[in-house]
Amino acid sequence: MSKVLGQILDGRAIAAKIHEETRREVERLKASTGRAPFLLSVQVGMHSAADLFVRSQMRAAESLGIGYRLERLPQEITQKDLIGKIKGWNTDAQVTGVTIQFPLPPGLDGREMSALLDPRKDVEGIHPQHIGQAMFGWSRIGTCTSLAIMELIAATGANLYGKEAVIVGHSELIGKPVSLLLLDKFCTTTVCHVATSERGRLIEHVKRAEILVVAVGRPHLVKGSWIKPGAIVIDVGTSLVDGKVTGDVEFDEAVKVADFITPVPGGVGPVVVATLMRNTVESFKLQ
Ligand code: NAP
Repeated sequence: MSKVLGQILDGRAIAAKIHEETRREVERLKASTGRAPFLLSVQVGMHSAADLFVRSQMRAAESLGIGYRLERLPQEITQKDLIGKIKGWNTDAQVTGVTIQFPLPPGLDGREMSALLDPRKDVEGIHPQHIGQAMFGWSRIGTCTSLAIMELIAATGANLYGKEAVIVGHSELIGKPVSLLLLDKFCTTTVCHVATSERGRLIEHVKRAEILVVAVGRPHLVKGSWIKPGAIVIDVGTSLVDGKVTGDVEFDEAVKVADFITPVPGGVGPVVVATLMRNTVESFKLQ
């Protein structure tokens, strides 16, 4: 008898639950302080992926009672002018949270921008203070995507203690922070990156992953035949292929062997919006 297909982790349903808790918290804060969190979303230049993301942010904020404004800045903005803008947002009493869409156009230093933002307003959790606190497990504002990945893994109900976790991609926004969160759950954690692939070793690491997180941005980099039977597969990658959003994992094959897998789209993305909104409320409380 052939194996039943793995369960598809429904990001929209998980996001809806987080949104419900956030909505209740916003109402409670409004009643106790007379104010609501206010999120400023910043987009530098035009980027179709960021366009989709800011539209989802706007819809979510409106439905949760969180104030929202989108500020579009020209692609040609200089580092100096952007720094001036950040200083302005830091002291703007109406704005309680700021999210800057990455990647920034060439010539702008994303790390410097993240470090200049008031950490209490950094709802993406990428200020060095948050990153440092994450190392100690103290962080109140974790990076949105790593928190979303952990929510999806938690939704499987799996006991993570001692599990082999393999992360493909070592970016500061996703791979590195999620490796810390999985370590905190006592997973045996391996982080793969471009050099792992170049040495032809990616397949052997992926093959022993009981928890697999792939965050690269290369369509179908991970083949379905590499997936360990019974694995939990979280596909973070999003690339446009023939106009279709496509993940980093060969879904149609992987779903036949994994116990749980996220679809692309509809997996990680909606949960990232939910963790961003939750962080926006947490930032408001820090102030
Ligand atoms: P990033 O900063 O470009 O990082 C990609 C990572 O993949 C880097 O660590 C890179 O290593 C590594 N890499 C590149 N080629 C590789 C290969 N052949 N084998 C193994 N590792 C390789 O991107 P990111 O911001 O982390 O985002 C990753 C993906 O997630 C993108 O597709 C992005 O669009 C998507 N994303 C989705 C959501 C969502 O809501 N679903 C949210 C955020 C991001 P080097 O730096 O050493 O080259």
